[in-house]
Amino acid sequence: MKHVLALALSLSLALLMGCSSAQTQEASGNSSDSMEEVVVSDALVDEDAQTKSNENVAPTVAEEPAPQENIASSSEGVKPEITEIYYDDLQHGDKGSEYQRYIVLHDTEGGGTPQGVVSSWENSSNLIAAHFVIGKDGSIVQCVPLDKIAHHAGWGSGNANDRFGISEDGRDDLLGRKSTSHYTDYGMNAWSIGIEMIHVGGEGDYPEAQLAALDSLIAYLDAYYGGSAGEIIDHKMWREGNSDTSEEFATYLANYRDHRTHG
Ligand SMILES: [Zn+2]
Repeated sequence: MKHVLALALSLSLALLMGCSSAQTQEASGNSSDSMEEVVVSDALVDEDAQTKSNENVAPTVAEEPAPQENIASSSEGVKPEITEIYYDDLQHGDKGSEYQRYIVLHDTEGGGTPQGVVSSWENSSNLIAAHFVIGKDGSIVQCVPLDKIAHHAGWGSGNANDRFGISEDGRDDLLGRKSTSHYTDYGMNAWSIGIEMIHVGGEGDYPEAQLAALDSLIAYLDAYYGGSAGEIIDHKMWREGNSDTSEEFATYLANYRDHRTHG
């Protein structure tokens, strides 16, 4: 485990991330400068949420979670190699273990390396990020601590907060979101861990090394949270019409949901 200083990341890495997609165009109509274009498209969609949502979210609050004890007591032994690259502005509030309910899986819908993805996030005004990014070679980068909220899931669809039994309860600082007017469900970030896999839908299978890394990361998170880190979903379960995870992940997703490994 090593800690990489933010200053070590160069802007050039972000510029290598360019992989625009229909999602990007859908979500970033206000964005024409090059930096915005290179940001991982999925995350831009995630944060196409509205600043007014606080006014619209139903005041229902999820059942008060019971604090967990012995957190991380047995997780170090199964922790995979993770490169930690933390940025304060990608952290959007406290997410103690009692708020860990879901693991949300994503595709980046762009290529490059995990370091490059994280660099593009840090250089974006959207302040989006998932906690982890997994490269095709199985390398794992973490850019938000487990006890902090990351903006990876964005708004949901179809009364998403109610469907998932969660709420936007004020812990999320909501910074960096784009203004729209008709989406109200924004609770998932405060109750989940986000994991992005470097993958572009339609461009082939996920490498075994990447899937094995995801297996090991989930096993570590389960151990960290004392047995289970919660239900595994993908982004499109939270927001209908979202593209990730992609079609070629469908069987793996079913396996993860069933027994928490890809095979
Ligand atoms: Zn996503």
